[in-house]
Amino acid sequence: MPNWKPIVGLAFNQDEFESYCHTIQWSAFKPKFIVLHNTGLPTLNMRPEGFTLQHIQNLVHYYRDELKWSAGPHLFIDDHKIWVFTPLNMSGIHANSWNKLSLGVEILGDYDKDIFSQGRGLAVRKNAIAALASLHTVLGIDVSTLKFHKEEPNTTHKNCPGKNVIKQEVIAEVKDLISKRKGA
Ligand SMILES: [Zn+2]
Repeated sequence: MPNWKPIVGLAFNQDEFESYCHTIQWSAFKPKFIVLHNTGLPTLNMRPEGFTLQHIQNLVHYYRDELKWSAGPHLFIDDHKIWVFTPLNMSGIHANSWNKLSLGVEILGDYDKDIFSQGRGLAVRKNAIAALASLHTVLGIDVSTLKFHKEEPNTTHKNCPGKNVIKQEVIAEVKDLISKRKGA
């Protein structure tokens, strides 16, 4: 396998993830911005309990053994947990020309169809907002630099992360949460 970067494979709740981010030593790879993705497949319905460790291991098999990539995205977020996949202080593979510059964050669902404003989609959204708040804070990067995968100039993923995910709403919610945490 081409120098596969072993995954972290740990799942955190929002507070645990915030603490985890503060333990990371950023040395060779320090991301300049974050790219948001949706998984598309699987959809929310295909993962009724969210991701299990087996699902995460299946993703390792997919990226490493089928695609022959050296890494995958950094986070997989479902309605329960924030899974760390590729180590946050190593470059991942998720968005062609942005891999060396950015962290890749995947949210479970197909948000061209799945709803991002209620039910399980809303739970995914809340975990994603929390994770993005932690990452932007710890990295000291402006939330306004957040990018969606479909903005990557060379991508074929023209819909990622789905039309139900509105960029300005996500940015505003991440900023709000960062402000709230500072005030707490
Ligand atoms: Zn994507």
